[in-house]
Amino acid sequence: MDLTYFSPKTEKRDSAIEGRGLFAKAAIAAGETVVVKGGYVMTLAQRDKVGDVLGPSEIQITDDLFIGPATAAEREGAMMHLNHSCAPNLGLNGQIAFVAMRDIQPGEELTFDYAMTDNEEDLEMRCKCGAQTCRTIVTGKDWKRLDLQKKYKGYFSLYLAKKFDPIT
Ligand SMILES: [Zn+2]
Repeated sequence: MDLTYFSPKTEKRDSAIEGRGLFAKAAIAAGETVVVKGGYVMTLAQRDKVGDVLGPSEIQITDDLFIGPATAAEREGAMMHLNHSCAPNLGLNGQIAFVAMRDIQPGEELTFDYAMTDNEEDLEMRCKCGAQTCRTIVTGKDWKRLDLQKKYKGYFSLYLAKKFDPIT
């Protein structure tokens, strides 16, 4: 059994954004659960140690904790292969479940915005998502941007949403 749940409507294959991606192989309706990230809950120090061996394979779930695989054998079944996009089609429902923010057609790459999950210093990535709204540089503090808080309202990881939206 894989550590991460994948909707049977998804498949992993090469992505134009980067490396491998997760794609819809059938139509997905707005609100459907697409992926639920699984793994071990790790501190930052544990995450960094695992990351030295496995590369990035986790997501952040609180200010101090991450979830992801711990061994090479578990990596494939835990990797979501969800690329970042500045015009994503997935958002979060809680901290580990990813849902469709709109209807998704077969063949579309499934993406989320790292601003929805990340709260880290010293995290910076040059974005190649190709969206007209691309931020070019994505950082671990993008959740603080008011434009993104508005754009992704209801789809931020819950620990982040609670920082700026008291009614969540
Ligand atoms: Zn971008």
